[in-house]
Amino acid sequence: EETSARENNVAKIKVVVRKRPLNKKEISRKEEDIVTVHENAYLTVHEPKLKVDLTAYVEKHEFCFDAVIDEHVTNDEVYRVTVEPIIPTIFKHTKATCFAYGQTGSGKTYTMKPLPLRAAEDIVRLLRQPNYVNQRFKLWLSYFEIYGGKLFDLLSDRRKLCMREDGRQQVCIVGLQEFEVSDVRIVNEFIEKGNAARSTGSTGANEESSRSHAILQLAIKKHKDIIDTRRQNDSNEAKTGKVIGKISFIDLAGSERGADTTDNDRQTRIEGAEINKSLLALKECIRALDNDQIHIPFRGSKLTEVLRDSFVGNSKTVMISCISPNAGSCEHTLNTLRYADRVK
Ligand code: ADP
Ligand code: MG
Repeated sequence: EETSARENNVAKIKVVVRKRPLNKKEISRKEEDIVTVHENAYLTVHEPKLKVDLTAYVEKHEFCFDAVIDEHVTNDEVYRVTVEPIIPTIFKHTKATCFAYGQTGSGKTYTMKPLPLRAAEDIVRLLRQPNYVNQRFKLWLSYFEIYGGKLFDLLSDRRKLCMREDGRQQVCIVGLQEFEVSDVRIVNEFIEKGNAARSTGSTGANEESSRSHAILQLAIKKHKDIIDTRRQNDSNEAKTGKVIGKISFIDLAGSERGADTTDNDRQTRIEGAEINKSLLALKECIRALDNDQIHIPFRGSKLTEVLRDSFVGNSKTVMISCISPNAGSCEHTLNTLRYADRVK
């Protein structure tokens, strides 16, 4: 009873901001740290400005969130604040999502990378508890990417995937490889393999991966003895068992990429427009979810369509907004904080 009370207390939507430390390059350029975190709950951005007569002044912006994580906080602590409270709920038919939002270089991948392993450890521990051990639940993992509005499987040589809705309005990603995880140590291997397979163009890994959304899903499914081969191409459920609950970890495209809509390169413009559309649609969906709206505008983008089943019914969302502390990133930092503010 005590656990269920705790689970009911888990907010449907939680918005957390994480500030990274200044990096070596910023320190060597003597860049100022313009972000101050107060009491793990609010922060001040000191925006450097110039008057018309060129005298310098500072404009202060204050923001308040469910939690604000400063540069001294470890990834373990980030896990405890964001994902850990949600884990028990996915055994009870909840679809959960954890997003990392922010400009390229703000710490999204650094923040997201260790979370699925920690989550898998906790899930496997719960699966061994007496009340679950006889239910024949299994943990399944998949990892894919949305790039320019198209889906690619990061665990099977970037095979192109397509999305379908089945008769019960469940999203089905046709051909997506799912792997049963009985030993959590393998989760790290999947993460490394998937990250290595993320879009890399001629310009280098971080540059290209900043234009894609990477989605790692952990699903708890009820084990099936009889595999229904007739429905093989229909739904993943038919192959691997009925989904009890799941959690998706989403390393979003760099938020500044949504502004690449005036770039000289046509491909970059198209990708920028797609990213812009998906980040706007995401915000709208989370807001609709928060207001208990019946109509969720998930059709606004591929990202929100893919996550459709996570925006209906029992759902939990954690948005981790990552920010850079340096003065040079001020405009992007303010944009990220305003986005996070509107999601709330
Ligand atoms: P993004 O995925 O948002 O583009 P990254 O996660 O790649 O950004 O982070 C950029 C750089 O900053 C990386 O070298 C990363 O190791 C470092 N970094 C990010 N966040 C932190 C942090 N909280 N503490 C220490 N280093 C960090
Ligand atoms: Mg990244």
